[in-house]
Amino acid sequence: MAMEMQAPKGTKDMLPQDAYKWQYIEGVFREVAKTYGIREIRTPMFEHTELFLRGVGDTTDIVQKEMYTFKDKGDRSVTLKPEGTSPVVRSFVESRLFNEAQPTKLCYITPAFRYENVQKGRLRQFHQCGVEVFGSKEPSMDAEVIAVAMDTLKKLGLKSLSLHINNLGCPNCRPKYNEALKKFLAENYDGLCDTCKSRFEKNPMRILDCKEKKCNEITKNAPIILDYMCEECDSHFAKVKEYLDILEIPYEIDPGIVRGLDYYTKTIFEIVTPDFTVCGGGRYDKLIEELGGPDMPAVGFAIGIERLIMTLEKEGIEIPNETLFDLYIGARGEEERKAAFKLASQLRPLGVKCEINHMGRSVKAEMKYANKLGCTFTTIIGEDELSNKKINLKRMSDGEIFEVSLENIEEIAKSVK
Ligand code: ATP
Ligand code: MG
Repeated sequence: MAMEMQAPKGTKDMLPQDAYKWQYIEGVFREVAKTYGIREIRTPMFEHTELFLRGVGDTTDIVQKEMYTFKDKGDRSVTLKPEGTSPVVRSFVESRLFNEAQPTKLCYITPAFRYENVQKGRLRQFHQCGVEVFGSKEPSMDAEVIAVAMDTLKKLGLKSLSLHINNLGCPNCRPKYNEALKKFLAENYDGLCDTCKSRFEKNPMRILDCKEKKCNEITKNAPIILDYMCEECDSHFAKVKEYLDILEIPYEIDPGIVRGLDYYTKTIFEIVTPDFTVCGGGRYDKLIEELGGPDMPAVGFAIGIERLIMTLEKEGIEIPNETLFDLYIGARGEEERKAAFKLASQLRPLGVKCEINHMGRSVKAEMKYANKLGCTFTTIIGEDELSNKKINLKRMSDGEIFEVSLENIEEIAKSVK
């Protein structure tokens, strides 16, 4: 036998027995998004590498360590999308959607690719459902975007969630903060990891998000940006909090969160469980302009679907699973098999999920199989059924029998659904 192949490290198949979970989560997300007038956008799986250098930022972990970047056969550098936001902004700018009436409310469900150290809740291909809203600088929009994420997670039944918020300031207040931070970090420069040493001049705030232990120790007592905010950022943050109060969404202010992407300004947030962050997001008022569009504010988030599923399982939340088949149609002989084949073809357009014998099973084995699949009803077509044009529908839960005409397809459909 040929050697068995394995999926690449850090990737996972979605197996058929788990498909319902994904479909359910995606359905809930789409439903919630609709209540906010958010429409779906799909962008390519790969982009010019340049997009992420400019969008995510060239001093971030994502760009420095985690991107799947390669040359295509035309010698262009392309990158599998490590996140959803920059491609959506690229598309928004390229398709001139900024000329439409604002705000523009978009959502997506997408795989993302990062070359990470694989561990629990950390994969190399993972999936996100995200929202990006362009055109509004109002604090009410920050709160609304947070509400979309919270609505989705709550509708799924999650309980162990807490919302952490912070404010990262804007180009007005950042320089003053960066100076203070650099002054603090300079005293401990030698203790920083090499990546952080290289970040020191260009982007000292990135050091706060480093995953290295020795850097964490150093930054523990670093000055916090909340103490350096300009008046506008201060008042924006106060209003976001007011709107969250109106929504009765509790939050914790966490000056330690900076997020792993450079594009954030003002509000940032994370929704965390005891195990990990399931959702991250925030405002990024400079990114649209940075990527060649007009000066236009934006705010968004992304939920990690794998982490979400792990959390649902940990909390013991059952995701509703439909039965695979409403009706199993067994048959005793060749003519009856054709009748079963025909009946199934007539029932499916009426929405009946049905199955017949494609495996040459005996009638006894068929019924055993139908039972194993959890079919709601079974029927067996034999000589008598064909000549009388009547079949017995057996409800598997209690064994009750319902006799119906083989010619009344609608009645059969109604009986088994
Ligand atoms: P972390 O700090 O855990 O590395 P991040 O800040 O890199 O997360 P974002 O880029 O904000 O994460 O992505 C949003 C969400 O996507 C995360 O909250 C998480 O649920 C999910 N996510 C990010 N990276 C991974 C990964 N490698 N594997 C699985 N899920 C991920
Ligand atoms: Mg990360």
